[in-house]
Amino acid sequence: MKALVKAEAKEGLWMQDVAKPEIGPDEVLIRVHMTAICGTDVHIYNWDDWAQKNVPTPMVVGHEFGGTVEEIGSDVARVKPGMRVSGEGHVVGERSRAVRAGRFHLDPDTKGIGVNMPGAFAEYLKIPAFNVVPLPDDVPMEQAAFLDPLGNAVHTATAFDLVGEDVLITGAGPIGIMAAAVARHCGARHVVVTDINPDRLKLLVQVAPHAIPVNTLKEDLREIMGHLKMTEGFDVGLEMSGAEPAFNQMVEHLVMGGKIAMLGLPAKPFNLDMGALIMRGITFKGIYGREMFETWHKMLAMLQAGLDVSKLVTHRLPAKEFQTGFDAMRSGKAGKVILDWREA
Ligand code: ZN
Repeated sequence: MKALVKAEAKEGLWMQDVAKPEIGPDEVLIRVHMTAICGTDVHIYNWDDWAQKNVPTPMVVGHEFGGTVEEIGSDVARVKPGMRVSGEGHVVGERSRAVRAGRFHLDPDTKGIGVNMPGAFAEYLKIPAFNVVPLPDDVPMEQAAFLDPLGNAVHTATAFDLVGEDVLITGAGPIGIMAAAVARHCGARHVVVTDINPDRLKLLVQVAPHAIPVNTLKEDLREIMGHLKMTEGFDVGLEMSGAEPAFNQMVEHLVMGGKIAMLGLPAKPFNLDMGALIMRGITFKGIYGREMFETWHKMLAMLQAGLDVSKLVTHRLPAKEFQTGFDAMRSGKAGKVILDWREA
């Protein structure tokens, strides 16, 4: 089968013929239809420090996918061949206290498909049956291809109650943009999103028209708050940039007792004013992945109830044109880039 492989320990990815995966009794083989390129895949393409430390070569990359069940292992009962599915890309162990307690997303033994086990940028993908998520009929395959990052957005946006709250999102990458749509869907009043990239802020208002874009290089957040008649500050912050100035600005513009859910991974440690967090009674929660499978349930329900992030897709390409897709991602101007594997 065709697969996109990190074949060598250097910049780039290569389309290669690799063996079709063979499944064990608890596993499922999925015929991949559509995938989406993630920032993680760009790190692997670029072969940066993180990738060099975490990704063994050769490795089939990719973890955002939708497809149909091709074959099931002998012990699998929950899913059947032909079903339309997506799936959780974090594969958990069975030993840790967290897993034994059902808190699967907190398992320290987690492995990631497309990172340290073979991934989804391929004609076929093998995952544990436990990880397979069947799709409701009204969720299209293109959306299935990026449920993984939508799940990140939903997990972050549901960390705290947003009903009637004013929400500040720092970072208008694809997940920040989706979080803006989710925050409104969850009942937030004002959803303000900051970034320094005008292309991203433009895409934000296309996907989430109610969101208020703020280019922090040109605009003053305090002034925007004045226009919105917000006197005290934001109730909840969703940090999506991993950028120190954005985080500090978020802390400064929260209400006393405000809450921060943080998904953006900083490239290096922050210089934090811990005193400001303490004196203002800020609650801080780190977000990793998606809750298995509560986040999946909630996001599929939201999509069925009208949440629409389809305008986030800026590129639709056959898988063999993956290079065009990666170039778009690396330009910083793309939303979601979909690769179609049905004629790979
Ligand atoms: Zn991803």
